[in-house]
Amino acid sequence: MKRILCLFLLFMVCFKVLEAQENKPKLVVGIVVDQMRYDYINRYWDRFGDGGFKRMINEGFSNENHHFNYAPTYTGPGHASIYTGTSPANHGIIANDWYDKENKEMVYCAGDKAVNTIGSSSSAGKMSPHRMISSTITDELKLATMRRSKIIGISLKDRGAILPAGHAADLAMWFDSSTGTWISSSYYTQRLPSWLRAFNKSGHTQKHLANNWETLYPIGSYKMSLRDNSPYEGAFEENSDPVFPYDLKKLSEKYGFGLIKSTPFGNTITKDVAKAAIKGEQMGQDPFTDFLAVSFSATDYVGHQYGTYALETEDTYLRLDKDLEDLFNYIDKEIGNENVLYFLTADHGAVVVPAYLQDMKIPSGYFNGGELKAGVKNFLSENYGVGNWVENVSNSQVFLNRSAFQEKNISLSDVEKKLSDYILAFDGVAQTFTGTDMRRLEYRKRFAALLQNGYNNKRSGDVLYTLQPAWTSYGMTGTTHGSVYNYDTHVPMLWYGWKITHGSSVVATGIPDIAATIAALLHINRPNACTGEPIEMLLK
Ligand code: ZN
Ligand code: ZN
Ligand code: ZN
Repeated sequence: MKRILCLFLLFMVCFKVLEAQENKPKLVVGIVVDQMRYDYINRYWDRFGDGGFKRMINEGFSNENHHFNYAPTYTGPGHASIYTGTSPANHGIIANDWYDKENKEMVYCAGDKAVNTIGSSSSAGKMSPHRMISSTITDELKLATMRRSKIIGISLKDRGAILPAGHAADLAMWFDSSTGTWISSSYYTQRLPSWLRAFNKSGHTQKHLANNWETLYPIGSYKMSLRDNSPYEGAFEENSDPVFPYDLKKLSEKYGFGLIKSTPFGNTITKDVAKAAIKGEQMGQDPFTDFLAVSFSATDYVGHQYGTYALETEDTYLRLDKDLEDLFNYIDKEIGNENVLYFLTADHGAVVVPAYLQDMKIPSGYFNGGELKAGVKNFLSENYGVGNWVENVSNSQVFLNRSAFQEKNISLSDVEKKLSDYILAFDGVAQTFTGTDMRRLEYRKRFAALLQNGYNNKRSGDVLYTLQPAWTSYGMTGTTHGSVYNYDTHVPMLWYGWKITHGSSVVATGIPDIAATIAALLHINRPNACTGEPIEMLLK
């Protein structure tokens, strides 16, 4: 009798758990498009098909005034911020690479010497999320379902897969340029799942690299870009022009499998491995919400090389639109449209190529970081005697040799003040701040506040500077990102599917609101350091 009662109680518990899951989506698909500026949606609108970006906007919700709330606007901080619902001040991913004050070395946001590559013999898998110090929405989902939810992160870039998948993920996978296949790290698993080993054997990378990269539509129909071979595009090789068609077979002989990352086909293989993961891991097939975090990185490599108004960039987005359509159709078929919640955003935007702006007489410039570094060293030696006063200059921050100043009883905050005045005099520098002020004051004005949200009290530097709008430390061709300005902070924010109403809004929303909104939709806890609020207007 006791046994029957126990069984009955167990049955009731299971029933309750399942009942609680019923009012949840079967799958959340988080999509990040690396370096996607907000304006690309409108610029390429007429050229998109009905099943990709347009499907999300025509049936879902678009927050049209959605911004990052911190700088530096780089890939590592971007992915960490989207999924932790907070900014580098709290999650600790202050850049892609930064100077580690404690160990006196440069560290990589996802680098981890304590783990090993799984799936190849290179070191590209020595990665984990251990430097991200707050929880992600994916972690919270894992906690909420006693680990029953399956969490997978996928991206060409390790950091684009690892940071979104969070600390408790089942698997994150990324592209190994040395093998042309998808790998992981021993942080997650000791062996790649069999479906992924099979996918890796299919030769998908080689297949794409055997062809030319031609424009998807006749080249004359690309009206929303500058002409091909403009002076603002970067070529693969010195003696070649950056023009269609690109002979990928020939180029890959020199650049290897990694070449695919700088073509739209890097996105295509990301989409294909995402489909394989859905099937192989049976995602969305049980009542416990699963989470697939996909980041499309090829858009960033292409943008860096060709710039924001290049034909190559337009073609890459038109092809991504087709890849999205294929992914949506696949998920419709496998899981059902009504059971899936999608969102799409970007990890940062990009500046219009400053050389192009200059040709249009719009203020912009190129900043010489090397000159600044040498100047800082000279300035400190002139003021405090010859010495090793600077440990590192990176990410627009100066890291002082604190112990050297302490030894000589020189006040660090005085040094910071003097140095910040010195740096402000440089051509192209807009603002300077001291680490002491960053820790003690509360900035309200937009750009100072953004910098402060990116300032981690323990990890960030001693003197910080920002450049004037449209100034970069970069080559004369292609684009980059990282600033506090609107071209870097303004990104698309699309919602679609489960419990999402149709509409759009220009009310300001921020990156931290994404995780808060998903938490509200799933009725689970927000990530532990989340600083955003749910975007109520998009809820059905
Ligand atoms: Zn990025
Ligand atoms: Zn071109
Ligand atoms: Zn980039």
